[in-house]
Amino acid sequence: MDYRKIFEVKPGKKVDLNKIDPDFTDDFAGKKDAAELVEKNSALLKQLQYELYAENRQSLLIILQAMDAGGKDGTINHVLAPMNPQGCRVQNFKVPSSEEASHDFLWRVHRAAPKNGEVVIFNRSHYEDVLVVRVHDLVPKTVWRQRYDYINDFERMLAGHNTRIVKFFLHISKEEQLKRFEERLDQKDKHWKISAADYKERQFWDDYQKAFEDALTNCTTEFAPWYVIPANQKWFRNLAVSQILIETLQDMKMKMPEPTVDIDEIRKLAAAEWKKIKK
Ligand code: ADP
Repeated sequence: MDYRKIFEVKPGKKVDLNKIDPDFTDDFAGKKDAAELVEKNSALLKQLQYELYAENRQSLLIILQAMDAGGKDGTINHVLAPMNPQGCRVQNFKVPSSEEASHDFLWRVHRAAPKNGEVVIFNRSHYEDVLVVRVHDLVPKTVWRQRYDYINDFERMLAGHNTRIVKFFLHISKEEQLKRFEERLDQKDKHWKISAADYKERQFWDDYQKAFEDALTNCTTEFAPWYVIPANQKWFRNLAVSQILIETLQDMKMKMPEPTVDIDEIRKLAAAEWKKIKK
């Protein structure tokens, strides 16, 4: 199965989110049916991240966007769990601080981009500047419209610096969102996640979907593709995201660096040390 092909937003094609089923789970009967593959994927992700880190010449930038309760936190947890924390990082993007707001909208984003060998996940991103900003009229239309081009140019530049970019829109239904809000009410340890803004923003559901459709349509490129992930079923969302990351990392063809020392010489030194201990 090639999940990149199935879920990719193809450049030049207009996205219609209504036509993408958030309940899609491929041929899997359920979570149990996918468990073996999920486990295999975790081990593969661990190995591939190790190679990326060791190679230290390329990097991976994962951009996550979703409606509220879309599952960004759960996805981050799932994807990063098998990885070595030394080589990965999560970057959250909140309402810009006054310093951030006094620069261009990509300033804070560029600083957070991955360095060689690193995996970085953006929990929200520069796409907020054509999503929430558009829905709430925070800047004039002439300003946010121009940003699609700026974003494409910026991402092309990162790609030219050996940063592989993959962008996931976690696609849930409006009903699923309400269900998840209610689950938070039922579970005491999730109460901290509840905000009055959730229900307020929900009133703008259609505006957000439209803004997402335009962002996905205008900013899916060969060098930084968008993927729409059916995300009503959390286990399938995790599986699809990990599968795409594996396919992407394999495509990057990392090469382990050549040793900087003569290994045979080092072996001799080690043998000599053992001899001293055993005397
Ligand atoms: P999350 O929902 O990601 O767990 P928060 O509850 O702190 O985290 O929400 C972050 C908020 O910051 C969101 O409402 C988001 O729309 C807002 N935000 C992020 N970037 C921008 C931006 N560039 N302009 C305005 N608001 C933004």
